[in-house]
Amino acid sequence: DTSETTFKRVLLKISGEALMGDQGYGLHPPTVERIAREVKSVHDMGVEICMVIGGGNIFRGLAGSAQGMERTTADYMGMLATVMNALAMQSALEGIGVYTRVISAIRMDEVAEPYIRRRAVRHLEKKRVCIFAAGTGNPYFTTDTAATLRANEMACEAIFKGTKVDGVYDKDPMEHDDAVRYETVSYDDCLAKNLKVMDASAIALARDNNLPIIVFSLDEPGGFKGILAGRGTFTRVQ
Ligand code: UDP
Repeated sequence: DTSETTFKRVLLKISGEALMGDQGYGLHPPTVERIAREVKSVHDMGVEICMVIGGGNIFRGLAGSAQGMERTTADYMGMLATVMNALAMQSALEGIGVYTRVISAIRMDEVAEPYIRRRAVRHLEKKRVCIFAAGTGNPYFTTDTAATLRANEMACEAIFKGTKVDGVYDKDPMEHDDAVRYETVSYDDCLAKNLKVMDASAIALARDNNLPIIVFSLDEPGGFKGILAGRGTFTRVQ
């Protein structure tokens, strides 16, 4: 129930790699289902949920262009990869009784709804999880920027960035035992110290609109719900 949290509408951003499990590539359905259950537990609290999922488990524009592909074409392929991930998440969520809409920034009406802001807001009001696919629809952007853009447009109170680690550290905690996690960190420090939170355009867009980014671990069972209820460890970028 909503008394467990102060949040009414949030956006969950996960990378495509969060869906690949230990396979190293593509989609791992049990992992998608696990994350879907995390989303359901927050949905059950009455929170309105937007999602943006990356595409890096399938294709990244930069990787394609490094191998000689034309950059914008490679980026469109990356955006299409995010649509596949969104459809996988839709299937997993609906399999456990959560109604969803996949809303694509690139028109493909047989597969997903086109992005119409007021319509998306209405879906949220009706407690449908809105999965925003195809990034911003523009090459040279990332799904981090898409997440910040949609969170602003949907008037979300915060972006929840689910990662492998439980926050933002002063150095890579996977490599350094003495890495220290920030409780809070400013947007400007993220940019100046090049902390690995989101890419610079996404952080700047969040900063300019006072949109907090909460970085937490998606590997922790019950973690997403806990963070929304004010428990667990995380970093708040503000
Ligand atoms: N992409 C893009 N414009 C966008 C969002 C994504 O061109 O607005 C492309 C870009 O090539 C990117 C790929 O889609 O590499 C996958 O997205 P991203 O790298 O953000 O995925 P993640 O790292 O979160 O899995």
